Amino acid sequence: MADIIQLLPDAIANQIAAGEVIQRPASVVKELMENSIDAGATEIRLILKDAGKTLIHVIDNGSGMTDTDLRMSFERHATSKIRKAADLFEIKTKGFRGEALASIAAIAHVDVATKIAGQDLGSHIVIKGSEVRKQEPCQAHTGTSFAVKHLFFNVPARRKFLKSDPVELKHIIEEFQRLALAHSDVFFNLYHNDTELYHLPVANVRQRIIALFGKSLNEELVPVSESTDILSLSGYVSKPSYTKKRKGEQYIFVNNRFIRSAYLNHAIRAAYDEMIAKDSHPLYVLYLVIDPGAIDINVHPTKTEIKFEDERLIYNYIRVSIKHALGQYQVAPSIDFEVDYNFGSRDRPSTGRSDDYDTAGNSGQAKVGGGGYVRQKVDSWEQIYEGLRKDAGGGTEQTPLTLESEIDTTTPNNPYVSSREKKEPYQIHSSYIVSHIKSGYMLIDQQAAHERILYETYLEAIRESSPVIQKELFPNTITLDPKKASLLSSILAEVNNMGFEVSEFGANTFIIYGTPAGLSQIHQSSDLLEQLIDQYASNLELKIGINENIAQSFAVTAGIKRGKKLDTQEMHALIDELFACAVPYKSPTGHKCFVTYDMDDIRRQFVDK
Ligand code: ADP
Ligand code: MG
Repeated sequence: MADIIQLLPDAIANQIAAGEVIQRPASVVKELMENSIDAGATEIRLILKDAGKTLIHVIDNGSGMTDTDLRMSFERHATSKIRKAADLFEIKTKGFRGEALASIAAIAHVDVATKIAGQDLGSHIVIKGSEVRKQEPCQAHTGTSFAVKHLFFNVPARRKFLKSDPVELKHIIEEFQRLALAHSDVFFNLYHNDTELYHLPVANVRQRIIALFGKSLNEELVPVSESTDILSLSGYVSKPSYTKKRKGEQYIFVNNRFIRSAYLNHAIRAAYDEMIAKDSHPLYVLYLVIDPGAIDINVHPTKTEIKFEDERLIYNYIRVSIKHALGQYQVAPSIDFEVDYNFGSRDRPSTGRSDDYDTAGNSGQAKVGGGGYVRQKVDSWEQIYEGLRKDAGGGTEQTPLTLESEIDTTTPNNPYVSSREKKEPYQIHSSYIVSHIKSGYMLIDQQAAHERILYETYLEAIRESSPVIQKELFPNTITLDPKKASLLSSILAEVNNMGFEVSEFGANTFIIYGTPAGLSQIHQSSDLLEQLIDQYASNLELKIGINENIAQSFAVTAGIKRGKKLDTQEMHALIDELFACAVPYKSPTGHKCFVTYDMDDIRRQFVDK
């Protein structure tokens, strides 16, 4: 029998390889942009037509290529990035397999112009389906302009398999965002069908995150920064109060390479512990830097997977570092997060921000800005003492504010160690509760806190339909205008699940037989219901679910307000219930429930500058 084995022609071999490397337009974008980064570009522009199906064009200001290198770059296994096997264990570039360009050229029309610095002329090449159509000198800027047209023109099955433009564009944007996050020191922009979707000036990581995902994130970011001799972790995680129901922005970069790792994701999630609900997901953008010898990135052709020499160590390191970062934020949430972390914001007096307390609808309330307010109102230390004593509501045994009780008694080398044990909370201006904590003290906004407590209570009641109803002695009727009436009847089931007992009587009238238990008696049931509907109607613009809206509306309507005096028992109950909440940090409408003051910060304010 004759020999039948032959080597595959290059074009076919490349097409087969392309199947592995290039799945969709986004894969081309990734490979081209990574090459630009590897070429040292500081500006990378991405231009797309029809979600990359018609055109993917990457223009960089990197090193460029000589004409020989340009021709060579399309050969399979042609790379400038590794020369010997040992290099494989020291990979510092994005690419190294030398198969991307060969693959892309096998399944598209490719048009490249490139020039290295110091040359007058550049080089231009046109390749269609692995076939070089022309190569000639050309005018060009230093760097590379790489256009890929008609992707999969010769692989109809692949082309058919592509999803709609919005879906393919989404994949591209994901790749783009990853690269942009990994390289905030590089300028990027992205045009799709002549519209600029992203314009990202050179920035620090925080600014880059905000430029990509929105300004509102700024306040939600907690910096992470830990390092040891062998590895370091930096970046940002979201505060526990900011989570998403669906996995949103979650990025881990290992040596600036985006990777997927359920294992590391688990480590990050574990750092939040009980701080966030089970089915919610924090945001994170984290950079792990580790000796390239300790990892293997060569396990997957598209290189988003990675193997660590010691996985457990990395897991624990990440978990502990983030826990630490979150802990610091919790201890000192009043750090001005708008200020870039590198400025050493901890040195700033962080207790003077009156806007921390400026919650909507209470402009008439006294604002308490750190200790400043009290200091202005009284002349001497004794008066502060007296005033607070009165405010303590019922003269408890422990003096609410004494010098030594303000000092952290848990620090062993603290000169002011006090024998006093438990410190009762007390209320100031009938609005805020002062409570001692280990590291200093905490101010709780009673209104925001109570709204949070009620919100979680009612949300659970609605979801579980397990209301606790308080029957009215005499059923109340309420007649609403037609708009409100139809709104109420549309959510009647949920309202009843929450603890109301309301039925429709016809002609826009409803009968109220019962209200949710546990509310103070000051509310007239019909007022309560009408306010709930008003609040619900105005919340409709917020894109939240019906249940969330009803629970939130009712929490705001029925919650205790600032200005209400609370006794010690009520304060204890409020504090306990607040910290039993899944998300104690913010009211359902997004106001802070408490602010903590760190003894270190307080002491610092008394140090002469
Ligand atoms: P790899 O990136 O794995 O080396 P590629 O097929 O992606 O393989 O690229 C082949 C070679 O072409 C690279 O090693 C590099 O030398 C060169 N190259 C590709 N794109 C660029 C670019 N934008 N600027 C400069 N050189 C480039
Ligand atoms: Mg490459």
